[in-house]
Amino acid sequence: AEKTDNSSQPPVIVCFSGLDPTGGAGIQADIEAIKANGGHCASLITSLTVQNTHNVKQLEPINTSLLAEQTDTLLSDIQPDGFKLGVLGSSENAALIADTIKQFPHCPVVLDPVLAAGGGTALTTTQLVEAIKHQLLPLTTICTPNTLELQQLTSKQPINQAAQLLLEYGVAAVLATGGHLLDSANTIQHQLFINDQPAQALFSPRLPGEFHGSGCTLASALATQLALKKSIALACQQGLDFTYQSLLNAVKIGSGQLIPTRH
Ligand code: PLP
Repeated sequence: AEKTDNSSQPPVIVCFSGLDPTGGAGIQADIEAIKANGGHCASLITSLTVQNTHNVKQLEPINTSLLAEQTDTLLSDIQPDGFKLGVLGSSENAALIADTIKQFPHCPVVLDPVLAAGGGTALTTTQLVEAIKHQLLPLTTICTPNTLELQQLTSKQPINQAAQLLLEYGVAAVLATGGHLLDSANTIQHQLFINDQPAQALFSPRLPGEFHGSGCTLASALATQLALKKSIALACQQGLDFTYQSLLNAVKIGSGQLIPTRH
């Protein structure tokens, strides 16, 4: 029998995400972004949502014992190369996810702290935010908050102080994305904070319009690049470039936010 050459296999990124029926955000964004970056997405759905391209109406967390069964069965067979955490659904799901990723300390973990939908609906509870801070951030390689999420997670205004607090919770790096900062400049400035290193600025051209799933696209592309052994700074730049291209080619599927094209 021929031997399998594992070096030609795509890295497997295990995603814990919600299902967004529009196909713009959530697990479908992850599947598309991971595939386009050269990985394979294994999908563990933490929640279903009721939504369109305007707003999320309802979030229905998946029962934790069912998620645990799915996770155990998947990981008894498939060896993960990285994890991407998006919408988690409940603090019980978050605790299960923490127990799971602890078993794979060699895997990079990207945590996108999705606290609210673009239209404003809350996608977390107070208990889930506490679980993210105290159980998941200490196991996370890089967290990718936008400026709103950064302030909600830390109650601190200046980006550098807020990012510093997240580093104190135990995350190795923070990519604070700047797309939500309402300024008129035609360049978006992001800031990358890596433990004990000076902050680095990264840039994307600003595009007009509102998008559904830009954060998921970035976090999944970044997780794949990390699993491909890129440095944190290079993986962030590649994730941002991939996201920019996806938004540049976005399509108007519904009457609300545009849906990124990820390929
Ligand atoms: N995941 C799910 C299931 C969602 O419904 C949403 C937002 O609506 C997100 C993630 C976050 O989307 P974005 O990438 O636009 O921050």
